[in-house]
Amino acid sequence: MSERITIVGAGPVGSLLALTLARRGYEIDVFERRPDPRRGGVAANRSINLAVSTRGLHALHRVGLDREVLDSAVPMLGRMVHALDGARTFLRYGQDDSEFINSMSRGALNRLLVEEAEKTGRVRLHFQERLIAYDFERQLASFSGPAGLVREVAAQVIIGSDGSGSVLRTGMPGVRASEDVLSSGYKELTIPPLSGGGFRLEKGALHIWPRGHFMIIALANQDGSFTCTLFLPFEGTTSFARLHSAAEINEFFDGYFGDLVPLIPELASHFQVAPAGKMVTVKAEPWSHGTALIIGDAAHSVVPFFGQGMNAGFEDVTLLDQLLGDDLAKSFATFAERRKPDTDAIAELAIENFVEMRDKVADPVFLLHKAVESELQKRFPGQYLSRYQLVTFTRIPYSAARRAGQIQSEILNELCAGVTNAGDVDYLRAFVLVRSRLSPLLREHGLQV
Ligand SMILES: Cc1cc2nc3c(=O)[nH]c(=O)nc-3n(C[C@H](O)[C@H](O)[C@H](O)COP(=O)(O)OP(=O)(O)OC[C@H]3O[C@@H](n4cnc5c(N)ncnc54)[C@H](O)[C@@H]3O)c2cc1C
Repeated sequence: MSERITIVGAGPVGSLLALTLARRGYEIDVFERRPDPRRGGVAANRSINLAVSTRGLHALHRVGLDREVLDSAVPMLGRMVHALDGARTFLRYGQDDSEFINSMSRGALNRLLVEEAEKTGRVRLHFQERLIAYDFERQLASFSGPAGLVREVAAQVIIGSDGSGSVLRTGMPGVRASEDVLSSGYKELTIPPLSGGGFRLEKGALHIWPRGHFMIIALANQDGSFTCTLFLPFEGTTSFARLHSAAEINEFFDGYFGDLVPLIPELASHFQVAPAGKMVTVKAEPWSHGTALIIGDAAHSVVPFFGQGMNAGFEDVTLLDQLLGDDLAKSFATFAERRKPDTDAIAELAIENFVEMRDKVADPVFLLHKAVESELQKRFPGQYLSRYQLVTFTRIPYSAARRAGQIQSEILNELCAGVTNAGDVDYLRAFVLVRSRLSPLLREHGLQV
């Protein structure tokens, strides 16, 4: 086979796709608007590190890179919740130490994938080439090069992994797309390592400082530093719009994140120069037109609160690879049709998790539900899997995980009615509810419960 495929965008999804398709024998041209990531510089306006979990690791495993990625990641076993008074509560993600997510440097992951794609000998990388238009009739792509020079390239088969602002998506005939920008944005700050290279917080947890309509999270990096992300409304009484002077910034951090302040040197000046990023949910339909397809964030950007955007994009690559047949147009259409309900589901779940992380981790009813849920996980191991576990540690469709989450909420509401303490729950009844309502759904999706 010597079919040529043009890929637009060498972000994590485009570079993994190039590698996966090249291994199948396709000849690939990748056009990326930025310079080569191996020559320094991390992608702007994106997180420094991100959480890689089962779906992403499975896609990496299929190209033999999961071990390498895990070796350079920091495992996180649960959330460490930091209360306003400095008290800390650890909430485990899974059942035991075997279930964890992995904090990974975005830049390092992207460089690895680009490098491995190129090593196949079937992938030609064209950096500093921005897609400006694609003529779907004539199957010609126009790229603007480093000196602003525009050239036309024949691209009979084209896949846009060009991120949430996808040019290929925008031009797709008949496409209907919505782009919902969250009213909150984010800024990143760094907690440096201790002088000997140690960590200033527990490294094996994702740290959260929930404060109602805003929060900070921190993920460890291998060098001992932590990347902190403040999620805050752009406008309003407590918002980025109100944090300009050093005095305003210091007062805000002293008041809400007192235990963090000593860990971040020159906090106010770093805050002032850090850009405030936007978060967007993109929903589009259709994803394909003949032999043109969009994938990853280009088709379904989600807000980052389930740590699934890239994992979902990697899972796209797995599914597409499994569905590819001789008729590429047909394979693309089948892929889009199968995948869309699941990416719609993770988009909703990500928004729900935003509310959960931001508001609810300080709410007593939520904490009771979490305590009962953790008891159910312990008492019925392998049978009661939380929504988080299903999304993060299994590969059942996102839409099934979402449905399971709805069933679990009903079960927890019933079990917790009139109860203030996890010890007072009727666990015999819980068993009956789990077996009769949750297990059939999970079994339907291949889980041995
Ligand atoms: C703050 C934050 C934290 C996140 N944390 C996580 C996490 O923990 N776990 C997780 O799984 N996901 C996370 N995500 C989501 C994740 O970043 C995205 O889902 C992922 O980057 C999508 O990859 P992609 O390759 O589809 O798109 P992108 O990463 O956006 O890559 C697109 C590429 O296309 C290039 N490009 C764009 N336009 C053109 C053009 N016209 N021509 C040529 N090239 C072009 C870009 O330069 C870029 O290299 C997070 C996102 C944010 C904002």
